[in-house]
Amino acid sequence: MKILDNVYLVGSGQIGLSHPFDCNIYLIDGEDELALIDSGAGVDVYPVLSNIREDGFNPENISKIILTHHHADHSGGCKKIKEVTSAEIYIHQHGAAFVEKGDAEEMGLTVAKRSGFYSPTYKYNPFKIDYRINDKDIISVGKLKLKAVNTPGHSKDSTCFYMYTGHYSALISGDVVLFDGRICLLNRADSNLEDYRRYFSKIAALSFDALMPGHGVFVIKGGKQHVEKADLALKRLSPPPNFI
Ligand SMILES: [Zn+2]
Repeated sequence: MKILDNVYLVGSGQIGLSHPFDCNIYLIDGEDELALIDSGAGVDVYPVLSNIREDGFNPENISKIILTHHHADHSGGCKKIKEVTSAEIYIHQHGAAFVEKGDAEEMGLTVAKRSGFYSPTYKYNPFKIDYRINDKDIISVGKLKLKAVNTPGHSKDSTCFYMYTGHYSALISGDVVLFDGRICLLNRADSNLEDYRRYFSKIAALSFDALMPGHGVFVIKGGKQHVEKADLALKRLSPPPNFI
């Protein structure tokens, strides 16, 4: 489903575009290169591949899967999608060990299952990382460039990507910040409000039109206002509302 020039939504559990456990999955069309942002949970990757074909692309031409963070609803599809695409997989350096080992406890899967976010039978398929992202890295997708902005708070490896196409700018925000300035603070060791307060200004300082979050509604214009709303709340006494 085309949402912007060069950007397609090809997976989302919430709106029934793919398996219910899947995050929002975006396809970036750099014209002579294709990349996926996140991979979904991997329970069933065929609706994602089918959506890519319906949008007029061959999944075999996807050369990069760029992960916003290690959580299973974002990274669990990598192994199966790589079997079809041979894409190289990118994640922030702090997330690499989690997805390569795939330990349910370390990844927070045990508590997420207990909280009803995954079925008890859900199994994570670990995979090898091809590129470990550092803050400020520039990742090329054909003619487009994505700038990595490591923004801990939801998780230490959470990384937003700033993209400018020549026509508009966009922030791919993963689970760091979502529609209406909601954040996603988890009851987990690597998720904390202090990191949100410390690092959020890195994305609040950016100017962009579109906001492409990991769940829920994406925003075509005025995306910055949603991030500003969270930023204002993080500077006051009461934290922003939580997404979950
Ligand atoms: Zn997450």
